[in-house]
Amino acid sequence: YGPAPESAAEVLEWIASHGGRFGHWIDGGFADLGDRGFTSFNPATGQPLAEVAQGTDASLDVAIAAARRAQPKWAKLSGHQRAKHLYALARLVQKHARLLAVLETLDNGKPIRESRDIDVPLVARHFYYHAGLAQLLASEQPGMAPLGVCGAVIPWNFPLLMLAWKVAPALAAGNTVVLKPAEFTPLTALLFAEISREAGLPKGVLNIVTGDGDTGAALVAHPGVDKIAFTGSTAVGRKIRAATAGSGKALTLELGGKSPYIVFDDADLDSAIEGLVDAIWFNQGQVCCAGSRLLVQEGVAERFHAKLKTRMDGLRLGDPLDKCIDIGAIIDPSQLASITAMVDACREGETYRAACPLPAGCFYPPTLITGLTAASPLMQEEIFGPVLVSMTFRTPAEAVELANNCRYGLAATVWTENINLALDVAPKLKAGVVWVNATNLFDAAAGFGGVRESGFGREGGWEGLLAYLKPAATPKPLKPTLA
Ligand code: NAD
Repeated sequence: YGPAPESAAEVLEWIASHGGRFGHWIDGGFADLGDRGFTSFNPATGQPLAEVAQGTDASLDVAIAAARRAQPKWAKLSGHQRAKHLYALARLVQKHARLLAVLETLDNGKPIRESRDIDVPLVARHFYYHAGLAQLLASEQPGMAPLGVCGAVIPWNFPLLMLAWKVAPALAAGNTVVLKPAEFTPLTALLFAEISREAGLPKGVLNIVTGDGDTGAALVAHPGVDKIAFTGSTAVGRKIRAATAGSGKALTLELGGKSPYIVFDDADLDSAIEGLVDAIWFNQGQVCCAGSRLLVQEGVAERFHAKLKTRMDGLRLGDPLDKCIDIGAIIDPSQLASITAMVDACREGETYRAACPLPAGCFYPPTLITGLTAASPLMQEEIFGPVLVSMTFRTPAEAVELANNCRYGLAATVWTENINLALDVAPKLKAGVVWVNATNLFDAAAGFGGVRESGFGREGGWEGLLAYLKPAATPKPLKPTLA
């Protein structure tokens, strides 16, 4: 008998106020360019939410031209002036937090607790932080200039947060943006666009073109963009790298992962279990840096797995708008089918499905597969669902070897009460981020990104901002001259 589910009424009203159909956001308003539409669904109910436009080469031409027109004036603003706009965006994200969180949950299926307490606050934080960097740019990076027009292509698992990761640094650096949200989750980007008008963002600085992978590919190939920032699967990242090769476009790729979660036998097991619940069942496991590969030291493995199964049985799946829910819906029936097929094809080890009630529809039970070997496909491939695979190890050296035995390198987690052990192991792990006795810690000031097949480039911090800058043609002098 927890609190009542969050009401969807306000969001449905907003969608209805647009006639249930949205054009692209170009030059500060919705533009109906006559593109055919496609439907975005609520994955928890299968109900249609709204229709959006399928972007074409012609609509991208219009959006990129708008971004191009707006860019010189935007870049000419001082860092302080651009910061004012970013602060306004951050404040309005906070003002409309409820609307954004409910819409994100309806379009994506993630628990409202997550969109309300994690996604939306991190979005606001990202704009606040980059407003700060915009002000420091002239003094800290005097020889740098914006790239021009940036194309951004983002995935469906954190629709609004991935928008913030791209848009905030691009705008802070003086670029304008054309962003293509994922086809499953286009709606919060469109609401954010409308909020940007309320914030007084100049026309053409932010443009959103909706569509599927073909629209993404057309944006990547378009000669009018100077940089592509992509977050998504390694398979698509590979295509984008090939498509941009030799084009002179700047590129950053944030790709998939299969991140190890290492538990040593001296770890505080209860805390490690809670961390693991967050690592693999946050957002139904549809997280690039999910701690999806458990490596547990042999002496505590049996006890740890037993405790974990009990905890799994207590997880609550259901209506994502219910504030007491731990696990929401899988993004789409196709993703549910992909998770099911990968798990069903596994002929090794032992599969444990949580005994918690499973709602009908697009839901998958929390699942643990133990007793796999390092070469098992499920130890190597990203499942992108609520499925944890587990292996045991004997020594720290073996833990490091197993952890690094993977083509990805996005994140890693180490649990131990022995700080010397943690400090010895962490730098040996091939991963963009290593968490010790914690997991899923994100901050706008900390560069996030992968190594190996998890991509390159960082988002967040100065490193992230530098990815949106280039050396200026005529560098400003570092010190005032007498002449
Ligand atoms: P995806 O690669 O299928 O799609 C991502 C985006 O690319 C979508 O907008 C899609 O329309 C577009 N796209 C598809 N084909 C394209 C093409 N040929 N050219 C240009 N754009 C194209 O990924 P997804 O299924 O939306 O997201 C899940 C994946 O994203 C997982 O692999 C996950 O690990 C990864 N991800 C990584 C990070 C990170 O920071 N490293 C963060 C979130 C998600």
